[in-house]
Amino acid sequence: MIFPDYHLHSSFSDDSDANIKDIIQSAKHKGMTSICITDHYDMDFPVIKEAPEMKFDLDIPSYIKTLNEFKQSLAPDFDLRIGIELGTMPNTLDKLNDFVKNNPYFDFIIANTHIVDNMDPYYPSYFEGRSIREGHRRYFEDELYAVSNYDSYDVYGHLDYILRYGRDSKNPFNPMDFMNIFEEIFKQIITKGKGIELNTGGLYKDLSQTHPCKDYLKLYKELGGEIITVGSDAHSPDRIGYGFDVARDLLLECGFKYYCTFKNRVLKFNTI
Ligand SMILES: [Zn+2]
Ligand SMILES: [Zn+2]
Repeated sequence: MIFPDYHLHSSFSDDSDANIKDIIQSAKHKGMTSICITDHYDMDFPVIKEAPEMKFDLDIPSYIKTLNEFKQSLAPDFDLRIGIELGTMPNTLDKLNDFVKNNPYFDFIIANTHIVDNMDPYYPSYFEGRSIREGHRRYFEDELYAVSNYDSYDVYGHLDYILRYGRDSKNPFNPMDFMNIFEEIFKQIITKGKGIELNTGGLYKDLSQTHPCKDYLKLYKELGGEIITVGSDAHSPDRIGYGFDVARDLLLECGFKYYCTFKNRVLKFNTI
């Protein structure tokens, strides 16, 4: 059994050139019979000085039309699901609610934090004038704000993705430093019947950890978290399903018996 990859990007995303045919072919080659493509849409993405051309907009009509055509041509042997990765910011939450209400075409919605204080942590300028620890804390605070004030999603994605950036070899990140804020984040997610994802992207980002890391994954389970999807965050076809063997072992080790899939935003538990 291989998990269906529930976090994938195609050339509809500003930061990917992946052709959908190649994505499907790679997924089939890796033994998958279903995947969910989740292209980026970051509403009101700010102008980032290092990359002013990046907008992370998404042509919704064309995206839905194209994926639906693929979906129909692939059925019944291959089950293509249509997802989206929505970047949240405190000032876009209401508008994102309206967006989801007015665009009922998705099987699955990942919400994520990409921008904090109008800056992208991908670039070093995010950490200018603050310590790395403070930069990390601000990111987690914005996630807590989002999960406390926003419900139009199925899973909140790559929760400790900020750890990909602002790394300090002399003073490595200690998950215990932010256990309290993660407890708050998970309580909101669980109480509202939402879930998280196990994102294997960190395994090929020279980080050697999934998002979230094992300590936070365990905490989620201990607090009663059950809803979890598995995704590679692949931006190229060769990365599809990357590290899913690691993900499987980690889920079992942390006590999960199921992984989740979504169709028309309806949750299904599947035995690992
Ligand atoms: Zn993301
Ligand atoms: Zn992504």
